[in-house]
Amino acid sequence: MASHLLGLRVDVDTHDGMKNGVPVLLDLFREAGVEGTFYLSMGPDNAGKAVVNVLRRPGFLGKMRRTGAARVYGWRTVLSGTLLPARMIAAALPDVARRVTADGHEAGVHAWDHRRWQDKLPRLSDAEVADQLDRARQAFVDIFGEAPRTFAAPAWFGDERSLLLEEGFGLAYASDCRGVEPFLPVVKGVALATPQVPATLPTLDEALGDTHADARAFFDSVLDAAASTSWPVLTVHAEIEGGPYADDLRRFLRQAAERGIRPAPLGELLAASRATGAPLPERTMGYGTVPGRHGTVFMPLGT
Ligand SMILES: [Zn+2]
Repeated sequence: MASHLLGLRVDVDTHDGMKNGVPVLLDLFREAGVEGTFYLSMGPDNAGKAVVNVLRRPGFLGKMRRTGAARVYGWRTVLSGTLLPARMIAAALPDVARRVTADGHEAGVHAWDHRRWQDKLPRLSDAEVADQLDRARQAFVDIFGEAPRTFAAPAWFGDERSLLLEEGFGLAYASDCRGVEPFLPVVKGVALATPQVPATLPTLDEALGDTHADARAFFDSVLDAAASTSWPVLTVHAEIEGGPYADDLRRFLRQAAERGIRPAPLGELLAASRATGAPLPERTMGYGTVPGRHGTVFMPLGT
């Protein structure tokens, strides 16, 4: 059967997600015979600060109840960086990180301090943006003994500064935004050399309680979308699909195989896109919203 590629991206946002969720996903992917790209948060787990922020947000408690956020994240994470000290994420669990590449997956950099970037990027000084990326990159080198080939900005939230800094790292590609297909970002009128491979599909945490009744309905819609679009990329979270929704992901991977959809690292998706011979489109970047997600995300304009 001819296979249809689905970019499979795993985001690791918390200490517990790295420690417990990543091993669950590695076992699940091995069982399904699939490979993906894991984006690792390296530094402090300040996930608890999110709880303080979102408590002020209208509709938060309803969403918290519908998605079972305390069940997904656990109280240690919900309090991490607030009442309890922040624990390091991949930097504290290098053996788990190295299992990712030992199992044949692609590993990349997600963040130094995920929460700080996500909440504060527009207000961070140029020096701090550079510092966040440099620290994360160095932590990756310390773990893997080589430079990362790919970055993914936390929460699909980047800006021109982060794009230009990533360009200086000589990455093979980045996945900093939402979009519909691989492309070259244009900054100040010039196309960068570092392609973006955007996440194209919604995430389970966005869908639950907003657009879909349950995880099964969500994954069914992902199968349809993956089969009918050219460069689909699905993002799963170590804390969510590697946690209470692991069985739903297992079922999804089985059904994907039955439908001839083959999950693959994002680098493989980009290579397949390039192999068509068509040049990557060039896009100016901006911001937009996606259903179920608070705030704006980075995305190409004019698609
Ligand atoms: Zn993340």
